[in-house]
Amino acid sequence: MIVMKFGGTSVQDAEAIGRVAAIVRGRLPETPVVVVSALAKITDQLLAMAAAAAAGNREKALEISLAARERHFNTASDLLGTGRFAQIHAELEAEFNALDDLLRGVVAVGELTPRTTDNIAGFGERVSSRIVTAAFSIRGLNASHVDSRQCVITDANYTKAVPDFDETDARLREIVKPLLDRGRVPVMGGFIGATREGISTTIGRGGSDFTAAIVGAGLNAQRIEIWTDVDGMMTTDPSLCPGAHRIKTISFEEAAELAYFGAKVLHPATLLPAIQKNIPVQVLNSRNPKNEGTRITASAPKSKSIFKAIAAKKRITVVDLVATRMLMAHGFLKSIFEVFANHRCPVDMVSTSEVSVSVTVDSNESIAAIAADLGKLADVKYEGRKAIVCLVGENIRSTPGIAAKVFSAIPDINIHMISQGASEINISFVIDEADVPKVVSRLHSVFFSEVDSEVFA
Ligand code: ADP
Ligand code: ASP
Ligand code: MG
Repeated sequence: MIVMKFGGTSVQDAEAIGRVAAIVRGRLPETPVVVVSALAKITDQLLAMAAAAAAGNREKALEISLAARERHFNTASDLLGTGRFAQIHAELEAEFNALDDLLRGVVAVGELTPRTTDNIAGFGERVSSRIVTAAFSIRGLNASHVDSRQCVITDANYTKAVPDFDETDARLREIVKPLLDRGRVPVMGGFIGATREGISTTIGRGGSDFTAAIVGAGLNAQRIEIWTDVDGMMTTDPSLCPGAHRIKTISFEEAAELAYFGAKVLHPATLLPAIQKNIPVQVLNSRNPKNEGTRITASAPKSKSIFKAIAAKKRITVVDLVATRMLMAHGFLKSIFEVFANHRCPVDMVSTSEVSVSVTVDSNESIAAIAADLGKLADVKYEGRKAIVCLVGENIRSTPGIAAKVFSAIPDINIHMISQGASEINISFVIDEADVPKVVSRLHSVFFSEVDSEVFA
C-alpha cells in the first residue's frame, strides 16, 4: 500500500479536488490511503476566528466562520451536484454549527484554552476529509471516510501533540487495514488526532505531512507521497528564488535538515517514521502530476555541486547570555538548558565563548519568561526578527574551504552566529530576517548557477 497526502492548495477548491480524484484513480493498483489537509488558508482562518472570539469580538468570529462555511458548501455542491450534496449537507451543517457554538462559548467565558484552540483548529481537516470522500465516491472511487481522531492517538500537549506510535499503529491496523483489505480507499484528515480520552488535538502547523508519515509507518507503506503545489524539493524556496531547480533525489538526512531549517515543503517530523521503517518519500506536484518530483531515500547519488539546497527559517530569536562570574563553570550550560527545557522550548543553534553563550529559539510568547529565569544565571539579552540560513549537502564532509566560499559571497551581511554541526552535512548561520531574500538569492546564484543534471532538473 501507499500513502498519498494532499496539502491545502491541492484541495483548495472543486477543481483541485477533481484533480486529486484523478491522481488517486491512477494509483488504485497500489492500494492508496489518502490523507488530506484543510482547504488552503482555512486553518489560518479558524485560528483567526478563535482569536477574535477570545478578544470578545463575536461578530468578527462568526463572520469569518460564515465565510468558511459558504466556501465549503460551494466547493461541495460544485463537486457533488445537488443530489449528493444534500446527503453531505447535513453533516457539514452540523460541523459548522458546532464550530459556531464553540466560538460563542469562547466569547461567553472570555478565555481560549489550548484545548479549545485545538478543537477549533481541527475543523478544517474534519470537513475537508468528508468533502473529499464524497467527491471520490461520486467519481466512482470506493472511498471510506476515516475519522483521524479514532486512529491518531496523541498526548494532551495541545497545538503540538505528540503521537503515541504504539497505540496509533494498533488503531490503524484495526480501523484502516480492514478497509484496504476490502478494496476501499480510506480518506482521512491530516493534522488532527485525539487523546486516549477522545479529546481533539493537533500535531503542529503543517502537520498533515507528519500524519501521512505516521500512517505510512503504521501500515508499512511501500511509499509515502506528499502532493503539493511545487514540483518537488527544490534547491531553495521557489517563492524566494524563481530560478530554483528541482532536486531529483535527496537523502533522508539532507531532507530532514532542510525541513527542520525552514523548507516548508515538508513538516520537520515527517521523515522520522519514514527513516525508522526505511520508507521512501516522494514529493510531487498535484498541478503537474506527470512530473516525477523528488525522491527522498536512505542514500542519494552524490552531486558534483557542494550543496543540495539552501533553506531559511525566519522568526528566530537570538538569546545572548554573558556570565562573567561563572566563567563557564561546570554545570553552567546544563542549568541554562534546563531553563529552556522547563519552558518546553527547543533550542536550535548554540555557540559559546569563554564567558558567553548564544542560542537561537523559534520566536515565541514564552521568551520574556525564559529570559527572566535565565536572568538568575547570567546577564541576558534577546533579539527577535532573526533568521537561520542553512546550506545542506553531503559533500560538505569532503570539501575544504567551504565556509570561505559561503561568507565571501555575502561580505556586506551582518552575521550573528555560525554553526557547522557534527552531522557535517549543514552549515548554518544567523542573519537579520530582512536580509533573507538577498542572502538566499545571492548564495543560490553562486552555488547553483550550473547544476549537475544527474541530481537536479
Ligand atoms: P502544502 O499546503 O501542500 O503542505 P506548503 O505550503 O506547506 O504546501 O509547502 C509548499 C511550499 O513550500 C511551496 O509552495 C514553497 O513555497 C515552499 N518551500 C520552501 N522551501 C522549499 C524547497 N526547498 N522546495 C520546495 N518548496 C519549498
Ligand atoms: N491545515 C494544517 C495547517 O495549515 C495542516 C497542514 O496543512 O499540513 O497547518
Ligand atoms: Mg505543508
